[in-house]
Amino acid sequence: MYDLVIRSARIVTPDGVVMGDLAVNKEKIAAIGQGLGPGEHEVDATGRIVFPGIIDAHVHFNLPVKNIMSADDVESGTRSAAFGGVTTVIDFTQQNRGESLKTAFERRVKTIDSKSYVDVALHSNITSISDAIIAEIPELVKLGTPSFKVFTAYRDAGMHLNDPELLRVADAVGRANGLLMVHAENGDAADFITERCDRAGQTKPTQHGVSRPDLLEAEAIYRIATLANIADCPLYVVHVSSDRGMQVIRNFRNEGWTIHAETCPHYLLLDESSYEGEEGTYFITTPPLRTREDCTRLTAAVAEGEIQVVATDHCPFTRKQMDEVGGKFNKALNGLPGVETLFPLMFSHLVALADGGLTPRSNASLILLARVLAENPAKLFGLAPAKGALREGADADFIVFDPNPIRHVNAMDLHGNADWNPYAGSEVRGELRTVYLRGQRIIENGQLYGKPGIGQFVPGKMTADS
Ligand SMILES: [Zn+2]
Repeated sequence: MYDLVIRSARIVTPDGVVMGDLAVNKEKIAAIGQGLGPGEHEVDATGRIVFPGIIDAHVHFNLPVKNIMSADDVESGTRSAAFGGVTTVIDFTQQNRGESLKTAFERRVKTIDSKSYVDVALHSNITSISDAIIAEIPELVKLGTPSFKVFTAYRDAGMHLNDPELLRVADAVGRANGLLMVHAENGDAADFITERCDRAGQTKPTQHGVSRPDLLEAEAIYRIATLANIADCPLYVVHVSSDRGMQVIRNFRNEGWTIHAETCPHYLLLDESSYEGEEGTYFITTPPLRTREDCTRLTAAVAEGEIQVVATDHCPFTRKQMDEVGGKFNKALNGLPGVETLFPLMFSHLVALADGGLTPRSNASLILLARVLAENPAKLFGLAPAKGALREGADADFIVFDPNPIRHVNAMDLHGNADWNPYAGSEVRGELRTVYLRGQRIIENGQLYGKPGIGQFVPGKMTADS
């Protein structure tokens, strides 16, 4: 007798879409197949899709931006995640200048304890280095943060590492069998243009894109990829926003370099015209929204498997917070909400729309979606095989999804602290019925059943598969 059996669903596994049942014992998936034996609880999922729990590999909870705290903390952010079918988020440590990476890690893990509705993994943020900090990198890999994020921008905020520093980090991360993550933009050039705009009184939100052109992203990717290659360190480029940036990655990859790419829903769905509206400043995020052509080409890159991960860079602010800093692009709070709409938007964009609805053809799109939203991030950040795919022995993290209803995004229906949403009014296909975290029902029909603290810190462990 199984604890739980989900019956007669379309189950999205890495090897294909299975029409059948999924059985859970305790926290794990016990079996996937046809005509499985009885369960203590049984759920008829005819017409529904069972999808692996989503992993949002890039979120920021409690992130101070220009000394203002982003609107979602661990509790509200993971609650919002749960409602969106995201069962694991990967947040970042926040290293104060000169601070030990381990101290930053321990402080961050403490903020997760007893507050989280979903499982949480961490990337290590490196904003400053010293011999002692470099020497800590292997230990951080052992503690469960095998991925290290660096910035080639934000010098004023004290986050920018210069080339010799980047080389030292890449060398240490490579030796420790870790993964280097980079926010790639030529920040000095962006600062220069921003100042020039400011002096000329050009501060409308549309200037945000002018101040950070795609060339700055492409140049920074080219440079950090070169440094990582010299240091023999695998690279993951976060939030690739432009086709020009993607071209650089593609070219180096063709030479056999290990470069993984992430993009975000806003670079696939929203374009620079958002900055022209009355709420233009609200759409400010970095890198900026680009052209419609970039959206189209990045979407194709996801579909072709050239972009491994779609994650959100979730970092929302409230209208009040955004209004208080005023309408100038260079004073705006960078960041957009995203974690709760990740799955519905990407299902609509990559599956429902791609195939003109759900047909047998869309099985390939479903598998692709599972790959970029769950399987790939789990592998890259060392959370597989427990996370990221529906298979026997894995954590029973999954969602039961009805692909048929048509809804419209409304900020007030969402469960984070932001009262504004960039996708408001967008049509999305489908509705989440149930969300399970390690076999426990945390969401059903719009009701929250999980309690804060049900989510755990999950350490990443690099394996040969990563
Ligand atoms: Zn980010």
